[in-house]
Parts: sequence; structure tokens; C-alpha cells
Amino acid sequence: MAADYDAIIIGAGISGMYQLHRLRGLGLAVRVFEAGNGVGGTWYWNRYPGARFDSESWTYGYSFSDEILREWEWSEHFAAQPETLRYCNFVADKLDLRRDIEFNCRIRAAIYDDAAGEWEIESEDGRRARARFLITAIGPLSAPTMPSIPGVGTFRGEAYHTGLWPHEPVSFEGKRVGVIGTGATAVQAITEIAKTVGQLTVFQRTPNWCAPLHNSPIDAATQARIKATYAEIFTRCRGTFGCFIHDADPRKALEVSPEEREALFEKLYREPGFGIWMGNFRDVLVNEEANATITEFMRRKIRERVKDPAVAAKLIPTNHGFGTRRVPLESGYYEVYNQPNVRLVDLRDTPIERITPAGIKTSDAEYELDMIVYATGFDAITGAFDRIDIRGWDGRRLRDKWAHGPRTFLGLQVEGFPNLLTLVGPHNAATFCNIPRCIEQNVDWVTALIAYMRERGFSRVEPTPEAEREWLEHVYDTGRRMLFTQVDSWMMGINSNLPGKNKRTFIVYAGGAPRYREKCEEAVAGGYAGFTFR
Ligand code: NAP
Repeated sequence: MAADYDAIIIGAGISGMYQLHRLRGLGLAVRVFEAGNGVGGTWYWNRYPGARFDSESWTYGYSFSDEILREWEWSEHFAAQPETLRYCNFVADKLDLRRDIEFNCRIRAAIYDDAAGEWEIESEDGRRARARFLITAIGPLSAPTMPSIPGVGTFRGEAYHTGLWPHEPVSFEGKRVGVIGTGATAVQAITEIAKTVGQLTVFQRTPNWCAPLHNSPIDAATQARIKATYAEIFTRCRGTFGCFIHDADPRKALEVSPEEREALFEKLYREPGFGIWMGNFRDVLVNEEANATITEFMRRKIRERVKDPAVAAKLIPTNHGFGTRRVPLESGYYEVYNQPNVRLVDLRDTPIERITPAGIKTSDAEYELDMIVYATGFDAITGAFDRIDIRGWDGRRLRDKWAHGPRTFLGLQVEGFPNLLTLVGPHNAATFCNIPRCIEQNVDWVTALIAYMRERGFSRVEPTPEAEREWLEHVYDTGRRMLFTQVDSWMMGINSNLPGKNKRTFIVYAGGAPRYREKCEEAVAGGYAGFTFR
């Protein structure tokens, strides 16, 4: 049977859309299969109240098209989800992407046919297609997980997971709403829900260190300046660790005076975005003593903002330092707890025993609720892969190969799985990045690889076992120096709701985007060193 397409892409989010555009540019026949009913990926699914960027909008959009940069205008420095979804649709229209995308099509299996040198995919509703290349664009945080609490299905009120939020408006007015979770999603949702809710109860297991977002509208003069300086903006992003606009301060926290330290912390706390995380002294994310200085500063800020000292104490993390988990950026989150109709339940003191038909029962009380919002996160990075039965040559399963942690080369290819290319896959810099910046790099690299193969008449590529081994070592070596690898979070593959996800595992790449890019370029310069072609 002849292949239906040259390439199949799974997912029509930010990476799948751009990959489709680039492969069309090579003249390839490409089909995208997307589970949702529209483009946008993360921005299609995460419609929860308060969802918005934590990267500056003008650093987040695609950089490859001058026309898109010229025509699109972000209204705020940190755009909200509806605007970002409009942006994705704008790009899809502009590039006429939809004619090659099959929507409402969730892929359940992808099997490599060694004899034919083709991948065959099968959707949940039985659709099948074949192609030489299979490109996963399935996102790092796209497999939502419900809490493994007994009785979840028994609740009689409204219940929503933030990552599967309804498309219709949801009203909180006059309702008793319970939110489980206090990660970046919950912090945004809680702040928004608190504006109209009747009574809000937050069920917190682990508090996070949250920092102010300081969002604001973009005025006409700023808009003009942004448009005139896009080239510089993207060049700056390329040079920073996570491709954000913020770059680490060259000084070390431990080498300056307490006054100088305080001055930078205070300045960053007042400024928009991730400066306080990514633009801080260069030792705060790698040295415990340095980290303790910013952690103490943040502790003070929480105490200043939350009126009731007992509530403030519950909101202060005690098991990790600032920035060792992804920092939720907030817009009045701490002040929510000063509202008389908001209460905080500390699950470390009183764990949830079960969800009941009427609400949530902890070890000391039953909270009657009209609505439960599950802001309980995702099976991060490898989760979306695990949900597809991916089999390489000899029938080997990706799930089995990654059972004790992912193994890849450059986070883009896996030995034993020829012609499978994993955009934003595990051990790829895109997992720790202002994501479109790294996505563009990933997609450009994959496009160049496919072009190279066509020029030379190669039909099959996979990494060597040695290249994979060396990459794993590099991922561990660069990761180990970061304090976040000593803390439980999704960035270390921890998910308390899933069996087998309780052991810290390196799933992200923490060597920084510039170093990652260098490694990708080195492979190309060496004639695609580390890959074998046929
Ligand atoms: P998350 O960081 O994994 O947070 C999940 C929350 O649910 C945690 O507070 C967790 O508590 C809690 N939880 C999970 N299971 C529970 C259970 N059984 N009982 C009680 N509590 C439970 O997920 P997320 O908030 O969706 O964020 C994930 C990532 O998405 C972020 O780190 C960020 O990278 C990205 N994000 C970005 C933005 C943005 O501004 N652009 C917004 C939202 C999310 P424990 O910590 O105790 O496990």
C-alpha cells in the first residue's frame, strides 16, 4: 500500500501549525491530525477563567513571518487566552492551514511498518493513514490528570478540569465553588473566580511561590516600538537561557551587599513578567544559600500582602525555595485571601478523604459545594506520548522504552523509532522555554533534516544508541546543577495521581536554549553526527 502522505503531524497547536507550514514549503504532502475542533493546542483546551500568558505577548508570537508580525497586534503585554486563540486562528487563516488538518481526530496508535518504511496511524474512531515521517506536536502539558481521590464521579454539582474547560461560559455568581490545586493554573483561575463567586474554598496541598505579573494594555506608541524592534526582541530572546526577554543578572546574590541584593529583588518584584525568576542574580537557581536570600524576600512579600498571619503562613511554601518549581505569575492572588468569602483549606493538616455527592470531605469537615474546579495539572511531557500506542521497528513500544525515563537524541529522535520526530519532546530545550521560540528552532531543524534526506535520497533516519546515551548523560549533567531537580514537581515527572510517577525523573532539558541550539547545530555541521541514514 502506498503512503498517503509524506508526513503526518499529530497536533495542531503552535508547533504542529508551524511544522505544517514549513513542510508544505518543501512541497511535501502533509496531513495534520488534531483531537480538538480547532487549532491552538494549549490555547484551545485551557479556556479556564484567568488563563493568560506568562511570557510577554510580543516575545511569544511566531517570528518567521514579517507579514504576521506586521498585521497582528497584541492588546496587552500578557494576552489572555481568548486573544491567543484568536491569534492562532489568525495564523491558520493567513497560511491557509485548515485544509490540511483533520479535526476531531484523536490518534490512539502509531505503528512503524519496517518493510514499507512507513508509519501507520490510527485514530480512536478508526481512521487510518500512512506516511514516511511521523511528527509529534502533542505538547508538553496536554494530558490533564484528575486527582486520584475516591468519589470523584459521585459529585452532583458542576465539575470541570481546567485543561478541559467548557467552550460555553461558566458562571460562578452566588455559587459555592471549591478549587483543588494551587499551581500556575489554579493561581490564575482562583484570582478570576474570586471576583464573582459566592463562596470560594481553595484546597491547597503545596503552596507555590507566586510573583506579580504586572500586566497592562499596550498603548499605540509602545505598539509601534514593538513592531519596529521585533528583530532585536527575538535576537535578545535567542540569547537567554529560556528564550524569555529576561536574562540573568551577571552578579551573584552572595557577592553583593544585602542592600544591593534587596534593591534588585525589589526592582524585579515591581517589574512585569519572569524577571524575578529568569533575570535574577545568576546563582539563585543553582546555589541553595543564594536561593535562600530570594526565598526570604518572597516570604516577606506574602506576609505583607495577606492580612491574617495564620493564612499567610499556610500560603508560604516550606518544602522548596523560590524558583525551584515553575513560578506562577499572579494579578492579585494573595489579596484574594483577604476577602471574607474566601477560605483556604490546608490539605497537609486535613487531607481530602473523598469527593461526596454534596462536595469535598476532608479529615475534619465536609464542604458543601455547587462546583468543583480541578486545577490538578497534567501528566507532563511524556504523558501525551504514553496515551498513544507508539511502536517502532520489531514492534517495540515507546512506552516500554521510556518506562524508566525518556531516552532520546536531542529530544527530537528516538533510537528504534525511525523517522519519528518529537517536537517539544522530553529532553528537548522546548520543555523549559518561552515555547514558540524553541518550537521554531525545533521545526526549522526537523524541516532541514527532511530536506537533507530528500536531497540525498535517504528514506530512513534514526539516532545511534551511542548518541542517545551521550545525550542522556548531557541532560543529566546539565540538569543536576539546577536546584529544581531536587524538588518534586511536574518538571521532574512527579504526578501524585498516577501510578509510577512518584520518582523524580529528568524529563526536561535544563542546559538552556542557547546550548541546546549549539548541540543541534553541531550535529548538522558534523554531517548529522549521531544519526544513521538509509
Ligand atoms: P501543576 O503545577 O502540576 O499544579 C497542580 C496542582 O494540583 C498542584 O497544586 C498540586 O498539588 C495539586 N494537586 C494535584 N493532585 C492533587 C490531589 N490529588 N489532591 C490535592 N491537590 C492536588 O499544574 P498547573 O497549575 O496546571 O500548571 C502546570 C504548568 O502549566 C505550569 O507550571 C506552567 O508551566 C504551565 N502554565 C502556564 C501558565 C501561564 O501563565 N502561561 C498558566 C498555567 C499553567 P501538589 O503541588 O501538592 O502536587
